[in-house]
Amino acid sequence: MEQLYSNLDDVYDEIVEIRRYLHQHPELSFEEENTAAYIADYHTNLGHKVRTNVGGNGVLAYLKGDKPGPTVALRADFDALPIQEQTDVPFISVNEGVMHACGHDGHTATLLGLAKVLNGLKSEIEGTVVFLHQHAEELPPGGAISMIEDGCLDGVDVIFGTHLQAQMPLGEIGYRTGALQAAPDRFDIKIQGQGGHGAYPHDTKDSIVIGGQLINNLQQIVSRRIDPLDLAVVSVCNFEAKNPYNVIADTAELTGTVRTFKEETRNFIENEIERVVQGTCQVSGADYEYTYTRGYPTLVNHKAETEFVAEIARNVPGIESVNETPQIMGGEDFSYYLQHVKGTFFFTGAKISEQEITYPHHHPKFNINERALLYAAKVLGKAALQYMKEHAHQRIKNVSQ
Ligand code: MN
Repeated sequence: MEQLYSNLDDVYDEIVEIRRYLHQHPELSFEEENTAAYIADYHTNLGHKVRTNVGGNGVLAYLKGDKPGPTVALRADFDALPIQEQTDVPFISVNEGVMHACGHDGHTATLLGLAKVLNGLKSEIEGTVVFLHQHAEELPPGGAISMIEDGCLDGVDVIFGTHLQAQMPLGEIGYRTGALQAAPDRFDIKIQGQGGHGAYPHDTKDSIVIGGQLINNLQQIVSRRIDPLDLAVVSVCNFEAKNPYNVIADTAELTGTVRTFKEETRNFIENEIERVVQGTCQVSGADYEYTYTRGYPTLVNHKAETEFVAEIARNVPGIESVNETPQIMGGEDFSYYLQHVKGTFFFTGAKISEQEITYPHHHPKFNINERALLYAAKVLGKAALQYMKEHAHQRIKNVSQ
């Protein structure tokens, strides 16, 4: 549908404007009231039926086409991160210590611009488009799960979503059938030794020494107990035991993350960490507390819908390459939607080529190539229209047979 593409080209400036406004006014996960209100207003002005406070700050908007057909959900997340922005863009965050450092401002601007264009094509739409604006992607338990509980997928046949990728060249789309993103879990360990005078270590159970051993012992889980062809990460990211220079640590706390793709590997690591903690503490006669908190599930894309979107992307003007993308260890709560309905989550290249260094996502100097928003909108928009068209026909065929 050429009309879709040229109409999107026409709203590109507005998409950029929206993205910059959102970038300038970021809000933390679960605190996105103003962003949610901005999104709801935009859809209300377009005449869409809007539901606010969906499972928290989530916003749903519905565009019913003039013809009957399936219901397609398009998802964009809209929360920001607790990061002090260090870019030199003119639309730098005005909210101290809060930054859109993952591109969710871009996701939202893309979906709003697309909503405007699809609204103009209403007479041709064969079904319903649900604009699923999700709060709190960055902070478990995340917004997706509560939005699902609050009915955001009711009546939805298929869901599509994308994430901008600052490291991926502009004009590139990455797709993958099956597991795409890992399950991100968290563990917390508290070692309870016995503190004392730094000069009399024999009267203590030194929590720092035990913690040091523990960090080393944990390295063996992935390197020696997981099949090298399986994918897993165990990272200790925080080790806290603050004491004066002459005091032996009474307690030490270790926190970290586990990333896996398979449920059996996830279960194995959860138990294995405890076994290692128990053994390490036992040697020194220390006690421990251990908590393992599950984050999002592995994101698993559906085959037919993934291939469908890849094929759409290949035909979008301006998109130069559509590649199968490697799995990534980062988590994403889009995974919950895919447990309920068919769909796919893909990556849209957003690299700023003229920049010498590409700062990674969650970096204080993170930025995206805004042209990517147009490509994302074209792929999502075309996927929605084409899906409705194909499936509306299928229904009619089924009825007449
Ligand atoms: Mn993100």
